[in-house]
Amino acid sequence: MTTLADFIDELLVLWPALPTALARDAGIQTGERVTTSENVHTVPLNVDVAAVLVDLHREIPDWARWAAETAGETPTASGGIPGHLRRIQALHDRLSGLGRTRDAERLATTVHAWLTACRRALGLNRPDRPFGEHCPRHDQPLTALVLPGDHGHLRYTRTDRHGHPIDAHIVWSRIEIVCCRHCDAMWTPERYMLLGRLIRQANRDREHQAAEETGDAA
Ligand SMILES: [Zn+2]
Repeated sequence: MTTLADFIDELLVLWPALPTALARDAGIQTGERVTTSENVHTVPLNVDVAAVLVDLHREIPDWARWAAETAGETPTASGGIPGHLRRIQALHDRLSGLGRTRDAERLATTVHAWLTACRRALGLNRPDRPFGEHCPRHDQPLTALVLPGDHGHLRYTRTDRHGHPIDAHIVWSRIEIVCCRHCDAMWTPERYMLLGRLIRQANRDREHQAAEETGDAA
């Protein structure tokens, strides 16, 4: 099971990687001259990464303060972002211990959202690829089927003296399925024939319905 501690461990590894990733994809290679007029309007940083950095610099201290106050403790402002994250982990356990389950859950959901934002900004959550057909299970809403994007998972080779994981490397995983992000239906490759039949049937039904509606209106 993935716990809040796992999310925080991963955030603490990814956080220092964000400033390094800022200049990535900037269109300016090392050693390249940037004095030509064409480059005047080039954005010299990765805007996704910049947005995440700005948001998290504001939100992490805010939530650490909120969690401390909710748990009846004095907020501390030391240790920078890593200090706040470790504190948030301790405060989450404190809130759970106090029976404030909903507050603890709110905190865990927020931390997970930060992790997702970091992972996306760093390119570890690759976007879904379109499959080119709609989910055969429902018309409302009509939802495009997708092939899930690859995910990079951090694996750690060792832990430091506090037991926190260090020396991360990335292992990529790909799941070979077609899925609907609305109803969570999924089809594995051995069921693609069935999926094809369902899609053809659903498309025929939709055409019939559209024809009937046009007929009614006439
Ligand atoms: Zn669906």
